[in-house]
Amino acid sequence: MMKGDLLIPSMLERAERFFPKKEVVSRTSSGIHRFTYKEIGKRTRKLADRLQQFGIQRGQKVGTLAWNHHRHLELYFAVPGIGAVVHTINIRLSPEHIIYIINHAEDEILFVDEDVFPLVEAVYDKLKTVKAVVVMTDNELPESKIESVFSYEEWIRDGSESFEFVKDIDETEPAGMCFTSATTGNPKGVVYTHRSTVLHSMSLSLADSAALSESDSVMAVVPMFHVNAWGIPYASTWMGSTQVMPGPRFTPDLLAGMIEKEQVTVTAGVPTIWLALLKELEENDYRTDSLRAVICGGSAAPAGMIQAFEEKYNVPFLHAYGMTETSPLATVSRLKSYQLDLPQEEKLAVRAKQGLLIPGLEMKVAGSGGEVAWNDEEMGELLLRGPWIADSYYKDDRTDETFIDGWLHTGDVCTVDEEGVIKIVDRTKDLIKSGGEWISSVDLENALMAHENVFEASVVSVPDPEWQERPVACVVLKDADKNTSKEEVLDFIRPTFAKWWLPDDVIFMEEIPKTSVGKFLKRALRDQVQEYYKQ
Ligand code: ADP
Repeated sequence: MMKGDLLIPSMLERAERFFPKKEVVSRTSSGIHRFTYKEIGKRTRKLADRLQQFGIQRGQKVGTLAWNHHRHLELYFAVPGIGAVVHTINIRLSPEHIIYIINHAEDEILFVDEDVFPLVEAVYDKLKTVKAVVVMTDNELPESKIESVFSYEEWIRDGSESFEFVKDIDETEPAGMCFTSATTGNPKGVVYTHRSTVLHSMSLSLADSAALSESDSVMAVVPMFHVNAWGIPYASTWMGSTQVMPGPRFTPDLLAGMIEKEQVTVTAGVPTIWLALLKELEENDYRTDSLRAVICGGSAAPAGMIQAFEEKYNVPFLHAYGMTETSPLATVSRLKSYQLDLPQEEKLAVRAKQGLLIPGLEMKVAGSGGEVAWNDEEMGELLLRGPWIADSYYKDDRTDETFIDGWLHTGDVCTVDEEGVIKIVDRTKDLIKSGGEWISSVDLENALMAHENVFEASVVSVPDPEWQERPVACVVLKDADKNTSKEEVLDFIRPTFAKWWLPDDVIFMEEIPKTSVGKFLKRALRDQVQEYYKQ
């Protein structure tokens, strides 16, 4: 057989050649833009040409601080297209972390959205390697003290639209880079290769995975600055799917409007996005019947939410699991054919788990006495390996804590049922240890969020003199005027859990602190709860 390197530019070339009429619908601060893959291809080649003229060499890093839109997509292909590395930077990180990761990655040039530009300007003096900033705008360039600032559209104007992407790259060369939002210390960098990105894209297109196809209109809500928007822009381009990109500072009504207008068939994001969308659908009328899959990952999808979407709006959910280190897709939850006849409740329980390992990966669940039994009960840490799993952090001493004997130690504790379906019980650091036994904060949260007046719920531990730790639930109500009481909330979940699992208290809050990518920020929440008890 021929070897055939798996290279990122070939994915765009396929879209240009076979799907030149298919569209990328992109929202920016100046409105909706529609480009065909033929146009995207030309623009990407111009950009690649200009990057090379600017002096970007193979292996060098090009930073982006941007939302989901067509220009960001062009960078996703143009940068690897010249053998360089596209480093997507999470715009919601603290200025200190942004400075750290740009310097650590040694970015040569930054591509920045106009609303993020003030942030870059504020830290620019501390950036050691950046030589220029290109602002992605349709408007006038902002006034700036930075010397080399260009406007994207002007910058690419003189590039050649017939630029040839480099072909003599080895598939194992770096192509992309993303830092995880570490809860302590500096963020840790993960480098994706051409090969890992292409194989991961293929895995997203498998029928038993997300099944991305030409016939889809795909809207990634998960940001392109976080784990390549779960690889969706790459896979969708390759398959020739229509792409819908929601742009900056989107709101639930905007997402619902785009789903309706652009006939979105697949969308993807974290549970907090879908909880907000659910509220929007409950309050206003939208058509959502084009949707064939709402992919939900990043945190556990509450069964109650899945049920509400499916039963009230006939919108099918697909629960998936992964992390920055895994590109990210690692598992997808689908019923096996012989499970389709199970009672509705059992089916929901299976689908609310994180699912089956994607073909191509290997897993092991390491408990205290070796690998755990597949009995849905024994807990252990999930270890993964495979062609789109990282083997190290970028120039980081912490590599040895996570990558051991060829396995990625995910830091996620899970059980496995007899079908091989994994269920993430908690992150190691979020498990609650009460009287020597473990309590899963995730299970409690999911049960709480099934209550009709609970909008969001997060459960954290508080120190306890007798039991070591006890769970406390923090709850945001949908309608605070309804006077939902602590007792009512606890009574609601009481039948589901052993007595000692029930939270000792319910604290009603206006908002639960969230991470930069919309997950519950338990560290901050624990601090808030401690403060609350001090008062
Ligand atoms: P960050 O560390 O910035 O949150 P990631 O997005 O890489 O970065 O987070 C990965 C983690 O998110 C996983 O290790 C796991 O704890 C959690 N996670 C991802 N998907 C799921 C899911 N479907 N259910 C439960 N937890 C999930």
